[in-house]
Amino acid sequence: MPNAVLNFDELNILTREQIRDKVEAEIYSELPEKKVDRKRCEDIIFDLLTMAYAYGLNKAGLELDQSLPVNDGLMRESVYGETAGETAFERMTAHIDAASPGIESGGPTAVDSATKLIDQLTVLIDTEQHRVANEGILDGANDYQRQHPERIVMKTWQTMLDDRVREPHEWLEGATVPLDAYFYTDGDRALAPGGFQSAALNVNCRCELDVTAI
Ligand SMILES: [Zn+2]
Repeated sequence: MPNAVLNFDELNILTREQIRDKVEAEIYSELPEKKVDRKRCEDIIFDLLTMAYAYGLNKAGLELDQSLPVNDGLMRESVYGETAGETAFERMTAHIDAASPGIESGGPTAVDSATKLIDQLTVLIDTEQHRVANEGILDGANDYQRQHPERIVMKTWQTMLDDRVREPHEWLEGATVPLDAYFYTDGDRALAPGGFQSAALNVNCRCELDVTAI
């Protein structure tokens, strides 16, 4: 992982369609062998989450106008972070375990099982990359705050402003709080999108933090 992540102005996270294409290509290439390569799936997830973290750090750096280097330990903590007691990799393993008997059986059942697995891994990666990207923004903003104790870093909850935004997140649209404060909604709280206790409030979330220093 290069330290000069901030040189990439165009750093972005993948759309759901791009994730799906990647996962589909991987799973379909393994169908003839009737076996899903867990290590390769793990590598894909690790790469995408690492990229999402870098995207978040980069976004915070652009908004705060300062180069914020990657802290490898914090990045790993985020990539291997647990949601409701499980890491992305544990969830991946559970999905592959569930799909494997169908895939190994071959025939039309194999395609059904593979399709279901592709859907599950796509949602998993999409959800996790948003959590990790927002943690990258938080980590970057915290780094900036430590370097500039005279400033006050604030964070704002931004939804995608379309009709797919769930109501509890719509309530948070534009909410601005100090960096270390929680956002409260629907009986739960989070430091950033993807950080709720309830999986239902995290899955499929596309919200992002904006950060600013006053
Ligand atoms: Zn959301």
